[in-house]
Amino acid sequence: MPTLYDNSLQQFNRAADVMKLDRGLRELLPTTKRELEVHFPVKMSNDSVEMFTGFRVHHNIARGPAKGGIRYHPSVSLDEMRALALTMTWKCAVANIPFGGGKGGVICDPKKLTPIELEHLTRRYTSEIETMLGPDRDIPAPDVGTTPQIMAWIMDTYSLHKGHTVTGVVTGKPEFLGGSRLRREATALGVKIAVEDAAKHLRMKLAGARVVIQGYGNVGSTTATFLHRAGAKIVAVSDSKGGIVNARGLDPKAVFAHKEQTGSVTGYKGASAVTNSELLELPCDILIPAALENQITAQNAPRIRPKILAEGANAPTTPDADLILQAHGVFVLPDILANVGGVTVSYFEWVQDTQSLFWDNAEVTTRLRGIMQNALKQALDVSKKFKTDMRNAALILAIDRVAQATTVRGIYP
Ligand code: NAD
Repeated sequence: MPTLYDNSLQQFNRAADVMKLDRGLRELLPTTKRELEVHFPVKMSNDSVEMFTGFRVHHNIARGPAKGGIRYHPSVSLDEMRALALTMTWKCAVANIPFGGGKGGVICDPKKLTPIELEHLTRRYTSEIETMLGPDRDIPAPDVGTTPQIMAWIMDTYSLHKGHTVTGVVTGKPEFLGGSRLRREATALGVKIAVEDAAKHLRMKLAGARVVIQGYGNVGSTTATFLHRAGAKIVAVSDSKGGIVNARGLDPKAVFAHKEQTGSVTGYKGASAVTNSELLELPCDILIPAALENQITAQNAPRIRPKILAEGANAPTTPDADLILQAHGVFVLPDILANVGGVTVSYFEWVQDTQSLFWDNAEVTTRLRGIMQNALKQALDVSKKFKTDMRNAALILAIDRVAQATTVRGIYP
């Protein structure tokens, strides 16, 4: 079975073929620049000591410091970090923000750690990877299993070692510690802007459009709320425990309140139960995977027929599935385009920290809209020019920008 990084390479090679990328760049660009693996002890609440393994990977920093989240999850691996660091390089390039790609993580289940264990693990992991970090070097952010509190501990640990407060070393911090307005909502707001523009492009009405969302965490639940507000009908949503469906539409806020109360969207009154695999195959106009990787595969893709597939999650579609979706005329907004709102507002946070000057909601929204709309328009232009699908087009746009930066900087010595 191909790994996540294998899939990223396959997508890269497909784009490189279409854009006739130079042979040297074909070898250089998909290769990670640095990979750090660390093993470290953590003192647990019961006084025992447990060993943990963590990673931090820099993929490409030709366009600026590495930017990418930190994941706490049992499935974290070096292969996954490599693939996600690559994705970050392309995302920053598609959005045309001056960062490269990075990713990090610790193999752990944060739900099984006490708050103090989580803090000890975070501070020790930060110390172990500190040589990679810095506001001009590598700026982490939250990802699956990490939170604004964890970003605050990373910032505090780094700052204590430097002897002064360095807010710009991480993004996704609490607002009163140099965080940006709308960072929490940013990815979902970006997905909503991308879906709105894609609907316009396809001459499709958003009002009344049927939306199915897999995953009801930060990205999924907030996207549901934004699209509901824009007049779309949220017909089905799910989380790791299962899904719910109501063809007449769900109220995203009420579903969220139910999840807060019970720990899951399942059991919500006024909806029928559906499994996660059934959910993906429900008839709908807009499908938004917002959970994990590899959810749409060659097995289920033949039965997945939305008009728009907007990838809130990273890498939810395998390369084989992609070809099937294209053959069925599904308009795919790939992850490196659809969910780029998160890293874009992280960039805004870094800019605000650097200037010690903070923006209001309107300024963040206007700037985010500008970046998302530009990225979509430029990807559409590339798609027309090369007569290719949107995933390939967005990748070509990104690879071209990284290739130009790499070429003009030259090879040292
Ligand atoms: P989250 O942890 O807040 O939410 C994840 C949701 O997915 C939860 O509701 C969880 O129950 C659900 N889930 C887990 N396993 C599932 C399964 N097998 N089937 C269905 N649902 C399942 O995470 P998030 O921040 O919302 O991130 C979701 C995805 O979006 C990830 O792929 C992440 O990398 C990507 N993403 C997040 C951001 C961001 O800013 N948060 C930015 C870009 C991309």
